[in-house]
Amino acid sequence: MAKTVLVTGASRGIGREIALLFAENGCSVAINYRKSIKQATALKEKINAFGGTAEIFQADVGNYDEVKTMVDNICKTFGFIDTLVNNAGISEQLLFTDISPDRWAKMINTNLTSAYNCCHCVLPKMIRNHKGCIINIASMWGETGGSCEVHYSVAKAGIIGLTKALAKEVGLSNIRVNCVSPGVIMTDMMSAFDEQTIAQLKDETPLYRMGTPQDVANTVLFLADDKSSFITGQIIGVNGGIYI
Ligand code: NAP
Repeated sequence: MAKTVLVTGASRGIGREIALLFAENGCSVAINYRKSIKQATALKEKINAFGGTAEIFQADVGNYDEVKTMVDNICKTFGFIDTLVNNAGISEQLLFTDISPDRWAKMINTNLTSAYNCCHCVLPKMIRNHKGCIINIASMWGETGGSCEVHYSVAKAGIIGLTKALAKEVGLSNIRVNCVSPGVIMTDMMSAFDEQTIAQLKDETPLYRMGTPQDVANTVLFLADDKSSFITGQIIGVNGGIYI
């Protein structure tokens, strides 16, 4: 599985685990980060230490020009991006009436327009090469709707729509587009929730545990593998059964 993969938001959490797993499986990894340069550098060093190939690329994926420059630089370094993982994201809990136009715009920009930006910059070369794989990270809240997370839910529902529509459009170019929709995964993102809420979510989960970044990474790797070559346009839940 010798490929080059761009993982957005790979400095921490789920993205970090995806980058690490791809590197362990022989891929060259472009580690995108926005602020966490220390963590991104530590990940690159960890990958290099076991003989893997990785470079770090700073960009706010919500900014089209920054994404374009990043993709150009990755192509200069690695030649071609075989696999794009649109993982970067933010979350926040707010009553709908407290979501200001600025907060709304930031959420949609970071969690949805970012995927447009990355796909738009990466796809022309994939189409020319007649191969490629895109994996978007949504959320179960994009499928069910989450109270006090309307803007987050809307962005993630948009990711699901983007996945299905784009899969139909680029299939003939031998490009697959899929989506992983995680449930509750223990990362920094969950630090906003108190212990009682976490325990309640665990109670509601048939597999009776919280998810790990590895759970999500394993599914992303599976979707990127050539063995998944007949899978496109799918939304794969990694949620312990909390939403079926
Ligand atoms: P996390 O631990 O908070 O990490 C978020 C990552 O995204 C960081 O590496 C961060 O990089 C990066 N990022 C944020 N804004 C960015 C931007 N504008 N440009 C580039 N990178 C940016 O979150 P996580 O839990 O790993 O979440 C990863 C993805 O899974 C997100 O899309 C999230 O919505 C989704 N998800 C998570 C859960 C969960 O329970 N954790 C459930 C469902 C879906 P910097 O630190 O460098 O800014």
